[in-house]
Amino acid sequence: MPRRRTKRGGERTPLAGDYDVIVCGASFAGLAVAREVAGAWGATPPSAASPPPPRVLVLDRYEIGERQTSACAAPTAWLEALGLEGSIRQTFDRLVMHTPHSSVRFPLPWTFSTFDYTQLCHLLDDQNDADFETAKVEGRGPAGGETIEIRTDRGTVSAPLVVDALGWRRILGPPGYQPPDAPLSRGLEVHPHGSSDDLEIWIDRAIVPAGYGWSFPARDEVRVGVGSFDPRFHVKDPTVELAAQLHRDAVRYQGNWIPHRLRPATEGGVFFAGDSAGHCLPLTAEGIRTAFYFGIALGRELRAVLEGRTTREAALRRYGAFSDAHEWKFRWMLRAQRAVPRVPPRVLALASRAMASRAFTHWSFDHYLRIAPPSFVAAELGPDHQDRAGEQQHDADHARERDRRLLEA
Ligand SMILES: Cc1cc2nc3c(=O)[nH]c(=O)nc-3n(C[C@H](O)[C@H](O)[C@H](O)COP(=O)(O)OP(=O)(O)OC[C@H]3O[C@@H](n4cnc5c(N)ncnc54)[C@H](O)[C@@H]3O)c2cc1C
Repeated sequence: MPRRRTKRGGERTPLAGDYDVIVCGASFAGLAVAREVAGAWGATPPSAASPPPPRVLVLDRYEIGERQTSACAAPTAWLEALGLEGSIRQTFDRLVMHTPHSSVRFPLPWTFSTFDYTQLCHLLDDQNDADFETAKVEGRGPAGGETIEIRTDRGTVSAPLVVDALGWRRILGPPGYQPPDAPLSRGLEVHPHGSSDDLEIWIDRAIVPAGYGWSFPARDEVRVGVGSFDPRFHVKDPTVELAAQLHRDAVRYQGNWIPHRLRPATEGGVFFAGDSAGHCLPLTAEGIRTAFYFGIALGRELRAVLEGRTTREAALRRYGAFSDAHEWKFRWMLRAQRAVPRVPPRVLALASRAMASRAFTHWSFDHYLRIAPPSFVAAELGPDHQDRAGEQQHDADHARERDRRLLEA
């Protein structure tokens, strides 16, 4: 069992105060926002006339990196772009996909790496100068006015700029978005000790009617799990069975709901990033790099407000539009998520063999990476440029989409 480091009992002193920015949630999305808002990176050099640094508070119910929230596999280029290579445990240049009638190795045009969650969070957290407190966020004060109150189990804090990076529960949004009715997938995995050279997935109705199983090695442990796009389908037994099939122990469970539909990225004056905005990609349930990507975009908007280059209202509008501009990509991924489970197994086997060609994998994986490309980290764009970059990307994506349709035809 991981050691619990979150403050308890008498350590939980009352929390109060006004801040410039409050980031709720200190995982992938929240720490990416904090890096941009309260990091030295990209900062204008201080001078005698410089305004005092902004007061930024990051809140999480657990200590940074205390509670792993995923299988922790992401494109290596994203980890490198963010200076998080130190957390990498294993790197893969191919993906093995199993269907009932085939096992196919896809050569990847870029690599995936599994990483250590605690190390990654610490490395990312080192890139900001914000205050951090462990507190459970319970909700917000009444809407209206410039300042938003955040109620926590240790007291109330407030700020004009508030980020909800709290995961799918979107605690600072309106209530009533709950499984099994909300568009959420469910995922569960075990983390036995062991090793393997292969990053593997299973698309097999015998394991899960709509979804997939995975085995993601991370040097001395293997993360074996099952995700179901249907929230009503329980994944505990399939996870245990897949682990048994792979001769792995079903120990150290970790699971959560996974959003598979975009939600408004701003609401009631609050900014949302990562799973709270449905930024996890449908079909693949890849939500780490998108949490980084949208977190960075949001952090840049907030920084522009703090530096007096834009207003809070403009930032709300622009970040909302930036997220919305990706809606059609998420819609396509959702269509694929719905279509794949309907493909008969023998057709799936034929299709996966056909898709394993180098030309096709490179073409499709490159497109997939461009939904949230690692080059975004170094772009150092101001809000206006970010808009333009978003538009240009949108145009380019439309051109690619046209190519895809032509190819299909
Ligand atoms: C089993 C499983 C495996 C996955 N594997 C992968 C993978 O390999 N690669 C990938 O890209 N994606 C994967 N995903 C998806 C990925 O985990 C999420 O999309 C990603 O974690 C979203 O990041 P986030 O920062 O938005 O939210 P989260 O990582 O969920 O972080 C939310 C943060 O908010 C904190 N918090 C929540 N509620 C409160 C509260 N009330 N008060 C204070 N703090 C609170 C939490 O402690 C946490 O630190 C997986 C998901 C699951 C369930």
